[in-house]
Amino acid sequence: MQALVRASLEAIRDPETGRPLSKTGQLRTVAVTAGKVAIEAELGTFAAPLKRDFESELVDAARNVSGVDDASANVHLVERKVLPLGKISLTAKAVIAVGSGKGGVGKSTVALALALALKRAGCRVGLLDADVYGPSLPQMTGVRGQVGKSEDGSKIAPHHLDGMPLMSIGFMVPPDQAVIWRGPMLHSAVTTFLRDVDWGPLDWLIIDLPPGTGDIVLSLSQQLPVTGAVVVCTPQEVALIDAVKAVGMFRQVKIPLVGLVENMSGFICPDCNKRYDIFGKGGARQYAEDAGIPFLGEIPINISLRQRGDSGSPMENFSDPLVAPHLERIAWNLSRHLANEAASRPLNVSLPVLG
Ligand code: ADP
Repeated sequence: MQALVRASLEAIRDPETGRPLSKTGQLRTVAVTAGKVAIEAELGTFAAPLKRDFESELVDAARNVSGVDDASANVHLVERKVLPLGKISLTAKAVIAVGSGKGGVGKSTVALALALALKRAGCRVGLLDADVYGPSLPQMTGVRGQVGKSEDGSKIAPHHLDGMPLMSIGFMVPPDQAVIWRGPMLHSAVTTFLRDVDWGPLDWLIIDLPPGTGDIVLSLSQQLPVTGAVVVCTPQEVALIDAVKAVGMFRQVKIPLVGLVENMSGFICPDCNKRYDIFGKGGARQYAEDAGIPFLGEIPINISLRQRGDSGSPMENFSDPLVAPHLERIAWNLSRHLANEAASRPLNVSLPVLG
């Protein structure tokens, strides 16, 4: 039975690489005693949000083998080696650009929430505030002050929030100084952020883009392979028109669209628990469906969320039952989508042996 159970488990695909477990060596031990299976397996930290799903998949695969009465799986997160991306020295498994058609829709809030949700699940995450015109990361995280040099003096040492490296132009210029930059300067700022910051090995680099269409996206797409873009919009139709433009821009520079998030979608009255759809309802989900973009989820209007953004205490969102599930859902859906993509990559499909 041991061999049958193993064969069943080995057919499962690693969520990170899409490769079957027979090829990845992730199954540490498979112990079968008297119809009971105990599995010890590994999962790269990149796919940490999917840890529970992976455990269930292992358990189900074992239970499907006849003669197995019960199964349990214990998945250990392991830090896998990451390679430099493109020509720059940044080592990251995935780079996600978070954009929006216009300002004020909650793009920075979503970028920070996504980064924190992935970090809390167990991923190695960095957050880059590339909104050079209106850097909001210092305010939203409460992390302020000029950044210094790394230990060996060769790189910029980023600030950290709960162990997560953060970088923002707001850590380089005084808060009251407006940044007036021309295209080439923007290009070199983005290069500096990507190449000269001591990010360490990352599973995910989340980039908060400036709103609208623009130079930064072009710069980014020229410098490294961006895994995908997440577009944030609000439900009202006007915002959606802007979101459509943002989607068009990413498509033009060949950055895959990996998600649409509807923010400020409905308000649940804290006094009566009644939901008010202030900006309408369902437009973003419908648009995502029509445009073939994964809908990652919605975040309702929430006064505490806004207050925590203003006071630099975003971690508190994760202990708020009205907010946390929405944020975690977005990170989970994004991980799920990338896992599905990895599994469907033709490279990993085993070809029939001819002849
Ligand atoms: P953008 O990056 O698109 O300009 P921000 O993330 O800076 O937008 O958000 C703009 C303002 O809206 C901030 O004060 C933020 O706290 C608030 N905000 C964002 N999302 C929500 C929400 N779901 N509920 C309440 N306030 C929100």
